[in-house]
Amino acid sequence: MTPTLAQFRRVVIKVGSALLVDRARGRLNAAWLAALGEDIADLHGRGADVLVVSSGAIAMGRTVLDLPAGVLRLEESQAAAAVGQIALARVWAEVLGHHAITAGQILVTLSDTEERRRYLNARATIAKLFELRAVPVVNENDTVATSEIRYGDNDRLAARVAAMIGADLLILFSDIDGLYTAPPGSDPKAAHMPLVERITPGIEAMAGGAASELSRGGMRTKIEAGKIATQAGAHMIIADGRVKNPLRRVAEGGRCTWFLTHSTPSSARKAWIGGSLEPRGALVVDDGAAKALVAGSSLLPVGVRRVEGAFARGDAVFIRDLAGAEIGRGLVAYDHGDAARIAGRRSGEIEAILGYRGRDAMVHRDDLVLRGAR
Ligand code: GLU
Repeated sequence: MTPTLAQFRRVVIKVGSALLVDRARGRLNAAWLAALGEDIADLHGRGADVLVVSSGAIAMGRTVLDLPAGVLRLEESQAAAAVGQIALARVWAEVLGHHAITAGQILVTLSDTEERRRYLNARATIAKLFELRAVPVVNENDTVATSEIRYGDNDRLAARVAAMIGADLLILFSDIDGLYTAPPGSDPKAAHMPLVERITPGIEAMAGGAASELSRGGMRTKIEAGKIATQAGAHMIIADGRVKNPLRRVAEGGRCTWFLTHSTPSSARKAWIGGSLEPRGALVVDDGAAKALVAGSSLLPVGVRRVEGAFARGDAVFIRDLAGAEIGRGLVAYDHGDAARIAGRRSGEIEAILGYRGRDAMVHRDDLVLRGAR
């Protein structure tokens, strides 16, 4: 049994360049995009948080700049991205604005999703946009990323973003309707796979090379994306985006491949914070804070009695009670120096003490795993 679209609360939709831009004519597929806008508005109107990962900056920019066909040099594609991204952002703002939805552009680099401090920033910005009911439109910051530090494909970028924001579904719209047992173009026996329970080495072998697509990511980067997403507690769909209203089509049971997760975003995140990160220090909290944490609150500076160890913002730390027992672990919003300066103080005093207005919580409850819960 595959899940139904209506059950998802936070959905990342990745749209490939080949769908957005008609390369032969060098123009945007405006009618198609308007129809996708309707689909997004439906999903959003039902209360789901929606984030779009949109490719197409380079494809749009190269047309505007009249760059030659074929593979671009790095600085050519960076220039194309600089020109194309402006147009792309405007298009999304218009398409979503048509449904009274506000779009917010976020350009990320590989290190924004890999380095914990920057990751927390991007995550907080996106969470705020969701709270304000805006739709973040994400692309890689291609203008500054050089080849060694870039994703290069938006499949894996979309999966990392899905993991970062705790999405429960990632949809990759592509120019193929899912995974096949062999390349469908060259092997007449290739069979479509509607459901992948687990990404095994056998599944990875089916992905082969990049031959099935025009754009950067082939099936292989989609399988990589599937691994990232399903480990983070999100299901993933690969669906044909070339039809009009592609999301509606998936909702109505149109052909696609589902990759199932066996976890949830919150348990995957808790396992990551509680299990895979090495704590770099500790926050010793008073009894009131200890009780509040167990009741589900964030850890505020006022409840912190002592700061131990040398840690940076975004590192994992132990949270201990006055007797030294571990209450839990969490990602800390301040480095050890600043944490020590605001310990025991009210959140309203943070700005006066540190000279900048940091986060109210020392450890936000979403970044916290209590001992019993691990
Ligand atoms: N970030 C690239 C662009 O906007 C696209 C990468 C991809 O095709 O996956 O042009």
